[in-house]
Amino acid sequence: MTMDYRVAVVGGGISGLSAAYYLSRYFADSKFSLELFEARPRLGGVIETVTRDGCLMEGGPDSIFTAKDDALALIRDLGLQSKIVETDSERRRSLIATEGELHPLPPGFVMLAPSEILPFASTELLSTKGKLRTLMDLFIGPRFYGDEESVSSFIERRFGREILLKIVQPMVGGIYVGDVEKLSAECTIPQFVELERTSGSVIAGLIGRRSKNLSGNGVSGARYGMFVSLEGGIGALVDALVEATRSEQIQLHTSALVKSINRTESGWALTVEGQAAKQFDSILLCLPSHDLVDLVGDLDADLSEALSEIPCASSIVVNLLYDRNQSDYDFDAFGFVVPATEDTSIIAGSFSSVKYKGRCPEDKLMLRAFLGGVLDEEIMNCSDDEIFDRAHRDLARFLNIKGKPVSTWLRRWTHSMPQYQLGHKRRVRQISASMQRLPGLYLAGNSFSGVGIPDCIASARTSAEKLVAFMKAR
Ligand SMILES: Cc1cc2nc3c(=O)[nH]c(=O)nc-3n(C[C@H](O)[C@H](O)[C@H](O)COP(=O)(O)OP(=O)(O)OC[C@H]3O[C@@H](n4cnc5c(N)ncnc54)[C@H](O)[C@@H]3O)c2cc1C
Repeated sequence: MTMDYRVAVVGGGISGLSAAYYLSRYFADSKFSLELFEARPRLGGVIETVTRDGCLMEGGPDSIFTAKDDALALIRDLGLQSKIVETDSERRRSLIATEGELHPLPPGFVMLAPSEILPFASTELLSTKGKLRTLMDLFIGPRFYGDEESVSSFIERRFGREILLKIVQPMVGGIYVGDVEKLSAECTIPQFVELERTSGSVIAGLIGRRSKNLSGNGVSGARYGMFVSLEGGIGALVDALVEATRSEQIQLHTSALVKSINRTESGWALTVEGQAAKQFDSILLCLPSHDLVDLVGDLDADLSEALSEIPCASSIVVNLLYDRNQSDYDFDAFGFVVPATEDTSIIAGSFSSVKYKGRCPEDKLMLRAFLGGVLDEEIMNCSDDEIFDRAHRDLARFLNIKGKPVSTWLRRWTHSMPQYQLGHKRRVRQISASMQRLPGLYLAGNSFSGVGIPDCIASARTSAEKLVAFMKAR
């Protein structure tokens, strides 16, 4: 059969798989063939869920942010809505390590600022001076002009240095495994930059938004908590996408490292390691910037420059299983983050079996530890045993755990988390301009406008739409 459209997707993470899914829907009324190439022997990218010792363990992401609808919409499309699992509503709180102990974030605290004054005033996390300086945000006017700001500059200007070091650095730095001195405020905490612009003060804006939501005048009440997962973990989303793209026209290749992409008279030639080049009309690349530079850096000088200026951080996730009676800690939260000023190897810890019930037997306790990021690249050189030891030692200290874990599993994610540093918006514009000079080639993924799963899905859907419009207009 002659194909109207021959399309390739490179990368089999959530971005690539979502792209394949949307492309197959948009081309449903056409004769098309689609091949997806994934370098690893399995699909999912940094999403990896396993069952070990009777427990469901997540090697990468474990939650889907519900405020952005793109992931929930895909979950609904895939018929997975009944499989959504919510976090335990009784324990929806986070802790922060300070001087070797864990303290709760005050109720109403939203990532980097309070939306309720009274609980904030009584927190033990900050000194009286630090709290007063934070509340000065209510009286400091907005900054409308000037250079792009880093997260640390934005926070210091509005709230002072103490909250930056004790709360914001581990919270924001933890999400991006990045350096708040370099991360762009506009690209990583845009909602707070916007609150400054619209309300004059971040705290006043948060209080206003909160009272609007409480009085029912705001956005219609969230149906879920801020985060959800699926029965079977986040890997269930990968499995459902693979199932939904199962068809004669679609081939999902694993252990297929794409070595080069070149322009030809009729479209694009793609070469997988150890194989002859294949011809495609259009290609959608769903890779972190680090891998994109290697693959398409030579096609356009501006593209190469801009992509290479988006560094990718590496990190490690360790799952540790304990008997519940190994600790007398009450685990009345979902986990904690650790400021860089604390003397630990871990940057965060998650109480996985508390956050999502039923992930392991009742008499067990499953924890996750996060290590690495741009502030500790050296850890990537350590052996697995060394990493297990360090993760256990830090968890044991904070959580009063006696004895060793009964089971452990770790995953290393090398160069997987793009860093939205100062100048990121300019770089993304430069990349978009370069892509105009490469018709038929498209990019999607976590390097441009959001690293979360919903952002990746949105990026894949948008690029799939553009690709289909381009092909159909030819
Ligand atoms: C440890 C960790 C925890 C996270 N937690 C959360 C969370 O709880 N919630 C959330 O929303 N987000 C979370 N994120 C972010 C989110 O999971 C990722 O941004 C997202 O999954 C990235 O998906 P992707 O498909 O764009 O990239 P990836 O998952 O990195 O997939 C890219 C794929 O491309 C393949 N590839 C690379 N080069 C080639 C090539 N030349 N040829 C063929 N294949 C190639 C790679 O092998 C990889 O499988 C987390 C990220 C990490 C690392």
